[in-house]
Amino acid sequence: MPKAQETVLEIDLKALQHNFEYLKSKFKSETKFLAVVKAFAYGSDAVEIANYLQNLDVDYFAVAYINEGITLRNAGITKPILVLHPQAVNFKKLIKHCLEPSLYNAKILNEFIEIASAEKQTNYPVHLKFNTGLNRLGFGENDVDFIASKLKETEAIKVKSIFSHLAASEDLDEKIFTKNQIKNFETIAGNFTKCIGYRPMFHICNTSGVLNYPEAHFDMVRSGIGLYGFGNSEKENKNFKPIGTLKTIISQIHEIKKGESVGYNRVFKSDAFLKTATLPIGHADGIGRQYGNGKGFVTINGQKAPILGNVCMDMIMVNITNIDCKEGDEVIVFGTNNTAENLAETAKTISYEIITAISQRVKRTYL
Ligand code: PLP
Repeated sequence: MPKAQETVLEIDLKALQHNFEYLKSKFKSETKFLAVVKAFAYGSDAVEIANYLQNLDVDYFAVAYINEGITLRNAGITKPILVLHPQAVNFKKLIKHCLEPSLYNAKILNEFIEIASAEKQTNYPVHLKFNTGLNRLGFGENDVDFIASKLKETEAIKVKSIFSHLAASEDLDEKIFTKNQIKNFETIAGNFTKCIGYRPMFHICNTSGVLNYPEAHFDMVRSGIGLYGFGNSEKENKNFKPIGTLKTIISQIHEIKKGESVGYNRVFKSDAFLKTATLPIGHADGIGRQYGNGKGFVTINGQKAPILGNVCMDMIMVNITNIDCKEGDEVIVFGTNNTAENLAETAKTISYEIITAISQRVKRTYL
């Protein structure tokens, strides 16, 4: 692996392929694979990731917003793209770029039908989202008749899938709740199919759903975090490979005398002689202030270097007193050993937040 000369997020595409194939080994070959590439493919760069997955024959992509889908289309992604949370103001653009909206209540269904009709569309593919317990977005079970009657009035749209989202698929203590969500989803999807007279695709599983609820794979699964290398449990994490390694370098080394402070607000005061390294990465790059004052650490030449004092916007200072290193040496912020998940534990958050927080000014490189 090339040594870093600046702050970079190195993405291992072979690890992505491994994760893709591992997930695929969990479901039947006829089940479709939708890759969730919203939020810059969880920080890894959606265009690169989608291009690579398109060549691996992924079936579908999903993004959160219409502009994310347009970026993929402009970069030559031709597979179907589901937009999970579209806003009506951009519906014309969505149609122009052949993106497929998730519709989740009467208002947005009506708005989409109106615009698709004005754009002279017929059978435009849409996906209907039902709420089965997450209580975030989605029609209720009592909306089935209303939707079916709307569909009879128009030729502008055609339902390509009915889907829902699990609230706690990674949490095995919530198995009864999740199984109920799945059962309710099946009932709603079954009733809906009877009402409209054709069978759209059904899907409900995210990564943890794929791993923990094989009975709910239905026609398609939607995986995000698994592709990026996290299985949401200690056991499953072993089967995935984190695709991202966040690296930086040592810009400057300082010798700090007893009683001197390091960083803003003089939060850290040294009680003995020590050596610090200043690194070109800070909270504007995604390393939040919660890692300051010894809570987070980086790895230099295989050894842990705790963060000293407050995290600055563009820099952190770390303790290298007992580490053999020099200016210009490579530093690992997270990677395959100290993973984003470990960092997440320190910050009492989840790997999703760590990897999506790496800001766009951090250069991405691909292996
Ligand atoms: N489906 C929906 C509707 C989502 O919002 C997400 C992610 O938040 C996913 C699937 C993918 O979930 P995961 O990253 O846990 O696989």
